[in-house]
Amino acid sequence: MELWMTEFQTKNLGLTTRIKETLYSGKSNFQDIAVVESEQFGRMLVLDGVYQTSIFDEFVYHEMIAHIPLFTHPNPKNVLVIGGGDGGSIREVVKHPTVEKAVMVEIDGLVVEVSKKYLPEIAEAMITNHPKLDLRIDDGLKHIAEIEDHYDVIIVDCSDPIGPGEGLFTYEFYKNVNKALKADGIFVQQTESPFIHTELIQRAWKDISSLFPITRLYLAPIPLYPSGTHCFTLGSKVHDPLTLDTGKMTELNTRYHNKDIQKSCFALPNFIQKILK
Ligand code: SAM
Repeated sequence: MELWMTEFQTKNLGLTTRIKETLYSGKSNFQDIAVVESEQFGRMLVLDGVYQTSIFDEFVYHEMIAHIPLFTHPNPKNVLVIGGGDGGSIREVVKHPTVEKAVMVEIDGLVVEVSKKYLPEIAEAMITNHPKLDLRIDDGLKHIAEIEDHYDVIIVDCSDPIGPGEGLFTYEFYKNVNKALKADGIFVQQTESPFIHTELIQRAWKDISSLFPITRLYLAPIPLYPSGTHCFTLGSKVHDPLTLDTGKMTELNTRYHNKDIQKSCFALPNFIQKILK
């Protein structure tokens, strides 16, 4: 029998993929969790029916959310990842030689355990308990409210703004992120699709740019996510990714990110520039 799975991305649009096998299906205190083996995307993590990551294209998302802010900062030592329970972002963060400590605060311990078992390529740094990694199972909102002047880079690798991730898209949260960063700190958050989530992007842009003197939006193609075009919003207190001298960058072992992408991802088509005005 053929098995197909659909993520309803909007009320008028779904992404359907043929499933070979359901590897895991369960429920935590926060969400429904599944890992399925699909024909097109390979193994995929699905939370509350929403595709989170896949073996096929995870490298684009994780490299772009981690390396763009980390290369923009001249000397990132203390890094925080909020969410990112599959481990992909932290796997990229620990590649940076300057990073001494990478704290990851994920609210759902079951996402971490399931990812370690079924997505070992992504969860690598959590499986080996990488010496730079400090993994905490806690609410990122609570963690950020308690910290001041501490992190060089904060990466918000969150799910959609519903359920436990809702508070991660509020002005109050961005204010606490600003407070938790050092005087030249940088923050980045995944902000969904510029084709589909216009309102969310505008709201995040307004809030972030009211707190950070340098606010930039950048793009990456991610076939698994709605419309295949994903964006990230970066807020910086001092360092501007647009004036970075990429000639001095030492490239890491990556599949998507490189010196050219570090700059070109900030080139925005007119319709996105218009969204931000
Ligand atoms: N790359 C994915 C995407 O864009 O869909 C996100 C992946 S990652 C699995 C998202 C994680 O954020 C989930 O594991 C979820 O449990 C976590 N999360 C949601 N709200 C959180 C919060 N308040 N504090 C910490 N982690 C949170």
